[in-house]
Amino acid sequence: MSTENLADGDPVTLDIGRTMDAKKRSRRPYVIAAVILGALAGLVAVFWISQQLSVSSEARRSADRMSLYLSTLVSALEEHQHLPFILSWDPLVVQAAEGGETNELNLRLESFAAEAGVDAVYLMNPEGLTIAASNWNETPTFVGNNYGFRPYFKQALAGSRGVFFAIGATTQEPGYFISEPVYAASGEIAGVIALKVDLTPLTRAWREGGETLLAADPRGVVILASNPDWNYRTLAPLTEGDRSEIAAERQFGDEALTTLDYDASSRFGIAVDGTRYIQTVRDIGHLGWKLHYLAPLARINEQAWQSVILAAAALLLMTVAFLLARARRVRIALFASQEERRGLRTINRKLAEEIEERRAAERRLERAQKELQQVSKLAALGQLSASVTHELGQPIAAMRNYLAAADLPGNGIDGEARELVDHLNGITARMEHITAQLRFFAHREPEKLTHFDLRDVISSVLAMMQSDIAGKKIALVVDIPDEPVRAFGDMFRIEQVLVNMIRNAMDAVAETSEPEIRLVLKTEAGEARLSVADNGPGLSEEAQSRAEDPFFTTKPSGTGMGLGLSISASILKDHDGRMTFSNRSDGGAVFVMTLPRTDIGASQISGGAGGSV
Ligand code: ADP
Repeated sequence: MSTENLADGDPVTLDIGRTMDAKKRSRRPYVIAAVILGALAGLVAVFWISQQLSVSSEARRSADRMSLYLSTLVSALEEHQHLPFILSWDPLVVQAAEGGETNELNLRLESFAAEAGVDAVYLMNPEGLTIAASNWNETPTFVGNNYGFRPYFKQALAGSRGVFFAIGATTQEPGYFISEPVYAASGEIAGVIALKVDLTPLTRAWREGGETLLAADPRGVVILASNPDWNYRTLAPLTEGDRSEIAAERQFGDEALTTLDYDASSRFGIAVDGTRYIQTVRDIGHLGWKLHYLAPLARINEQAWQSVILAAAALLLMTVAFLLARARRVRIALFASQEERRGLRTINRKLAEEIEERRAAERRLERAQKELQQVSKLAALGQLSASVTHELGQPIAAMRNYLAAADLPGNGIDGEARELVDHLNGITARMEHITAQLRFFAHREPEKLTHFDLRDVISSVLAMMQSDIAGKKIALVVDIPDEPVRAFGDMFRIEQVLVNMIRNAMDAVAETSEPEIRLVLKTEAGEARLSVADNGPGLSEEAQSRAEDPFFTTKPSGTGMGLGLSISASILKDHDGRMTFSNRSDGGAVFVMTLPRTDIGASQISGGAGGSV
């Protein structure tokens, strides 16, 4: 970008900068999209990592919780395990089994059950019929019921400890049954002593702890669950064999044993009734049971979402901080570019000023050269005019005297002689006219610089020219102020200028029917304006542009030399004044000489006044 073309308001960003800006702008949507995608990918990664961490921490937690619940369940199962064995050696039990009194045993078993905190304790004969029970006086009571079909009875009758979980055939209450054989004195098995333990307080504790647990038997039937709806449902459909075995043992009463909506196929934990969990499974070590500890996936996801929200908030904060920092950077850059622009503009302005100054200086130089040429021409002309007027003055005066003497009355001059004298008189007059003109250009040494009244200039010029003006029947109007109008300089040269102005006006109105010359002196601020207006034809178009050129004239040879105006202008310039001219709107021309006034102390003529012409 060239500085010449740099206008004030022009933006000064470099083209290369603009191109880069445009490129940046066109890439911006992609950058924004990439940043958004990156941020989303980052958040997904945060979610995934946080989920993995939550899963592993949940797995650790699950293992801890599982150990706790497993040990409480195992201890609940084992707590009363030895009691049937101890009871089987009780003499009252043995006697009753051998067919003795049961009333006392009923009371004994009742207090025993209450003390041990078990549901029921009861004695069966080898046929499975209950002959004594802790709930002997309750309704329903076990007494009189036959439990020979129960596996725990069969196991005890076979001589070993029997354990079993079932829904009570009499009470419909679920319970854990433990049994032992009762030996008669003869050493034969005379009965089976059993007790029933209620495990439901355990599941209540799970529920109240906000935990999700279930215990399933080897067939997959849920025995205990924190959620009561899951009880006696199966994790997988039961086989026909299993169903008939269960029916024979009447293990689950009338329960339909429907399949639970349990889906363990997914890699990400299991689903129960549509809710997802991370599952930990351990063998209980009794009856082939398994304990399932379920940690809801929602809890894990909740933690992951919290991490995502935290990360998103951090990202948002970072974005805001970045945008703020960027806005600040942009503001600084903008400020710097404005400064740069201002600087360039100043340089540009200075350059333009310098160029203009140089041009003005060139113009001044040119004018000075022209003026110098003109001044030197005029100076030479002045010297020439002075010597010519001096040399011709004497002979012309002598010639005029001789002719006057010859023309004296009584000399009898007439006829041809008359014609000759008249002709010679004409020639002499013409020669005098030419020398008068030349005198105008001649130097008058030395110049006399004075303060003078312009009104005096007018009266002395009119004294010289009035008769001439009147002789040519030209009306003269003079308008001068009553107060003196003072100027400083060479009064004689100012008179020369006025003479030239009036002479030109007279020449101009030569062909006018009612010729008139109007001479007006006016003051204006610190200036005096002396105008000479005529009602002649006015300045031709060429004269308007060239009137001040030396040797420009429209007058016939011998009448005008075309030097009057250029010399007048030069004289006025020496007096810090000027010459202006124009055509009047109602016809004719007006020439105005303007000089600085000294009577108001406005300005003093400079040392250049009266310089030689
Ligand atoms: P000159 O009078 O010898 O021609 P000047 O320099 O005084 O020389 O005048 C130059 C020219 O300006 C004149 O020839 C004339 O054409 C024109 N001029 C000057 N004064 C007048 C005027 N009052 N009216 C019309 N033309 C004028």
